[in-house]
Amino acid sequence: MSPVRALPPRGRSREEILADLRHLKARDAAWKQGRVFSLVYYAGEEVLDVLREAALLFFSENALNPLAFPSLRRMETEVVAMVAGLLGGDEDTVGTMTSGGTESILLAVKAARDWAREHRPTPDVPEIVAPSTVHPAFDKAAHYFGLRLVRVPVGPDFRADVEAMRKAITPNTILLVGSAPSYPQGVMDPIPELATLAQEHGLLFHVDACVGGLFLPFLRRLGYPVPDFDFRVPGVTSMSADLHKYGYAAKGASVVLYRSAALRKYQFFVSTDWSGGIYASPGIAGTRPAGPIAAAWAVMHFLGEEGYLRLTRQVMETVERLRQGIEAIPGLHILGEPVMSILAVGSSRYDIYEIADAMALRGWHLDRQQRPPSLHLTVTPAHAAVVKAFLEDLEAAVRQVVRPDPARWGRTLLVRAAAALLRRLPQGVTRRLIARASGLFQPGSGVGRDAPLYGLMGSLPRREDVREAVLALLDQIFRPPEE
Ligand SMILES: *Cc1c(COP(=O)(O)O)cnc(C)c1O
Repeated sequence: MSPVRALPPRGRSREEILADLRHLKARDAAWKQGRVFSLVYYAGEEVLDVLREAALLFFSENALNPLAFPSLRRMETEVVAMVAGLLGGDEDTVGTMTSGGTESILLAVKAARDWAREHRPTPDVPEIVAPSTVHPAFDKAAHYFGLRLVRVPVGPDFRADVEAMRKAITPNTILLVGSAPSYPQGVMDPIPELATLAQEHGLLFHVDACVGGLFLPFLRRLGYPVPDFDFRVPGVTSMSADLHKYGYAAKGASVVLYRSAALRKYQFFVSTDWSGGIYASPGIAGTRPAGPIAAAWAVMHFLGEEGYLRLTRQVMETVERLRQGIEAIPGLHILGEPVMSILAVGSSRYDIYEIADAMALRGWHLDRQQRPPSLHLTVTPAHAAVVKAFLEDLEAAVRQVVRPDPARWGRTLLVRAAAALLRRLPQGVTRRLIARASGLFQPGSGVGRDAPLYGLMGSLPRREDVREAVLALLDQIFRPPEE
């Protein structure tokens, strides 16, 4: 297939096009085979079929105006009610569906900003106080809405440090944030303590349960110890929970919830004077796809509480086996006390990024994390069948990293030398150099040689340089591939 640079002059046949699509798809990450530990939450073919059919049934409808499509209004309000019910909501709890965790967070932050403008105006730029592990969607929200995100270092257990967060509160603070659980290490922030802190200062408090919102309620019902994290905790004013993660819904589905309609009001947008008429929109998007709403509604009915409990139990059995296997490998350990199905694997002895490269050569896609370096595993039902193969490959990867490898040393030395040199160069020069180097080190371009890049990026003292390098990379990614 040669790359396309312009609209084809004549239409092509459906068969040809579908063959092309299948061809393109063949090189993608093998998520059905459990080779990916993020990005896709696969609960089996039956669930996938239900999602597909439901989404196709509402393929063309538009959720921008639910009054034109009573079906969508009904499904959306029912999905929101089901999620609110799982998260300790009562008859006052309200929310909307959004396109994903990021949009849910953007909207909760926007609502907080506009609420604060009216109810507790700040002397300077309003601030969000959050633990350092909080999802970058909060940076994005601060960036988009003209706020400042104050990231407070977490404790040695990777959980929010309540006293440090107390000290970070100023007259400009409008919102506190905690995660249930955090994405990097899967640990629970102390939500009740943070909620009390928020109440003491009359602040709003958002709990980011994007990854945990459709998992923790079932985990608790299975008898696992789950600390309080939802609307049952007084002081929690808003929450985000992703349906397209452990809700096993189709992509493009999340819920943002508020303790009351008085707060949700600040999420909405209304334009009254447009010549096109009065325009109202609940979220970021104008036109909203209806497929994800129908698919979320469908999968929640298809699984029911029983189905979610079964999947949760299956995932936790897999987590236990992975955990034991990983901890049995000398030199590897799990970071913190993960509460559910997210594990971060670190090493006190080896370069964990080298292990990630060695795993990539064996066909496993693992996300690299920093501060401290670790590998991220989001365990899903798709992983039940691959535990043994994964652990065998992980052991082999560790053995490979232990073995002397002159080529690897060469790369590592080169990168160390480059990093040392870069530290001494004027900033402008460094940025240009790195922007160039990122072309050489393009992650994923040659499987199994990303470790030097991650090592370099992680150790650069000027984070602005890393930013420039990544911007250059994004620019490349969104250009058509050369071939
Ligand atoms: C996934 C996630 C998000 C962002 O959700 P998207 O659906 O990727 O936009 C935010 N917070 C946490 C804790 C998450 O796991």
